[in-house]
Amino acid sequence: MQVRVDADLCTGHGRCYALAPDLFGPDDYGHCEVLVAGGVVAGDLADQARAGVENCPERAITIES
Ligand code: SF4
Repeated sequence: MQVRVDADLCTGHGRCYALAPDLFGPDDYGHCEVLVAGGVVAGDLADQARAGVENCPERAITIES
């Protein structure tokens, strides 16, 4: 599974990195960065990716199987 964040949609609420801090983190402006190289995740990180998708108010996070 691959997770992506659309930087144009992210407004920096921080819900993603509050809920899934192993996968998402803030850049210098509070916008979300994916912490895993290439955004490729499995197992617990895949669960965190889904949590990010479900909780981002801007729908900035997407995943592909
Ligand atoms: S929850 Fe969405 S809008 Fe907020 S920082 Fe994360 S990706 Fe950006």
